[in-house]
Amino acid sequence: MSEAEILHRLAEVVGPRGIIDAVPDMDGYVADWRNLNRGRALCVLRPDSTQAIAAAVKLCADAGVAIVPQGGNTSMVDGATPDASAGQVVLSLTRLNRVRAIDEIDMTMTLDAGVIVKAAQDAAAEVGCVFPLSFSAEGTATIGGALSTNAGGNNTIRYGNARDLMLGLEVVLPDGRIWNGLRSLRKDNTGYALKHLFAGAEGTLGVITGAVMKLVQQARSEELLFCAVPSVDAALRLYRRFRSQDESSLRAFEYLSGLAVDMVVQTIEGVSLPFPARADHYVLIDLASTRTNDTLRDLAENILAEALEAGDVSDAVIAENLAQRRALWRLREEQSEAQKRVGANVKNDVSVPVSRVPDLIRLGAEVVTRLFPGVRAVPFGHMGDGNIHLNFVKPEGLDDQAFLSRSGELMEAVNAVVRDLGGSFSAEHGIGRLKVDTMADWREGAELDLMRAIKTAIDPRGVLNPGKIFKTETRGRQ
Ligand SMILES: Cc1cc2nc3c(=O)[nH]c(=O)nc-3n(C[C@H](O)[C@H](O)[C@H](O)COP(=O)(O)OP(=O)(O)OC[C@H]3O[C@@H](n4cnc5c(N)ncnc54)[C@H](O)[C@@H]3O)c2cc1C
Repeated sequence: MSEAEILHRLAEVVGPRGIIDAVPDMDGYVADWRNLNRGRALCVLRPDSTQAIAAAVKLCADAGVAIVPQGGNTSMVDGATPDASAGQVVLSLTRLNRVRAIDEIDMTMTLDAGVIVKAAQDAAAEVGCVFPLSFSAEGTATIGGALSTNAGGNNTIRYGNARDLMLGLEVVLPDGRIWNGLRSLRKDNTGYALKHLFAGAEGTLGVITGAVMKLVQQARSEELLFCAVPSVDAALRLYRRFRSQDESSLRAFEYLSGLAVDMVVQTIEGVSLPFPARADHYVLIDLASTRTNDTLRDLAENILAEALEAGDVSDAVIAENLAQRRALWRLREEQSEAQKRVGANVKNDVSVPVSRVPDLIRLGAEVVTRLFPGVRAVPFGHMGDGNIHLNFVKPEGLDDQAFLSRSGELMEAVNAVVRDLGGSFSAEHGIGRLKVDTMADWREGAELDLMRAIKTAIDPRGVLNPGKIFKTETRGRQ
């Protein structure tokens, strides 16, 4: 089939509104959020039904055309963009965006994969429930993308990653068949848990078109604390105090380095530090309880008083209203945007056992500063999950490219520390195209063989998202 014929038949399948083939109009779909890659696509498909997706996938598979599934395109590892061949098709899920059903007794919602995470939260709130997946890109990222990357975020400490909230899936397989696994069962031990293969598969095994997700009860009381702490060790001790005194109320425990907070305050309009003086380390602690008449405020104040007395906290505020809550959360939520504004940066989304977080931050900063004097370490992240974004912003005045040309070296140096501490080189962002070399280096032998065997069994022709997760030759048409 010629390219023109493929385009013509795809247009028939998805309708005139469902295809973009003019190069300038594809711009927003072929470059990733971090601008790591600018690929070229044969076309962008935007179908609005599972059936149309299935037909398009079958057509592409039969013609040997590779497909790159894309949700909100917020991948931090360049997972959702095509290669440079102009032969791959970007399959955008953003028009498949209906909330199909909400069940307040089952506490579930059934969603099209293209529903924006924030829209899912809002839909749950309308019926008095909570969809607890939450992260800074929630206003753009989709349910399908969040599941395909097994996204974590701020509330993982309490509710788990995206896969922990998933009950059922609908998936278009690489040969165009539809697997309807949209079950809303809490228990279903019927053979292999296929849904867990597709969660975290980064679009390499199937196209997620729908999902049944768990909801949780709305909190009856909430408290948000922002604390200045003298060291990362003190932050860890504070975490243990909260965990030991009321584990069930902890909803988020986020670490922020002083420099990371400075960057938000300096670059993001309307954000300010709630203390008179800056500190080198902060934590943001979110507590929530579904119990009636809970005494969360007392709990928070008692723990803070003990920690102040022990010297583990130097200053603290507790949000008094919704506006203050939002203002404090912005110090955390605007981290990625602020670092992008300050200049070129190297990101490390790594995890270690929670007890080793202070070692990770200290040793990681030491090795990178030794390699690149003047570099600015701006670690922040989900301390309660042992997941720190150990990021580095270029030295002041240095050219972006001069810094980025050494990013591989800096990431390797951090990964060596992570390996020594028994951690993972990718905690929640996945592998994408960015980390395929590291993947091959870390996950060798039986583990990688098994993953490849699964890929070959489900997608023998290598149609879906080639060049992501595994180190394979990327290609357009086969
Ligand atoms: C500012 C910012 C903050 C972030 N914070 C977090 C965070 O705290 N925690 C976290 O885990 N991540 C975070 N991320 C990363 C990213 O937002 C998440 O990985 C998100 O889940 C991706 O969703 P998306 O819809 O944008 O997917 P995309 O970026 O479009 O795609 C991501 C991957 O999933 C595949 N894919 C997308 N949709 C489908 C589908 N329907 N079926 C099959 N495959 C699909 C793509 O091919 C790609 O491999 C952040 C990103 C940004 C920009």
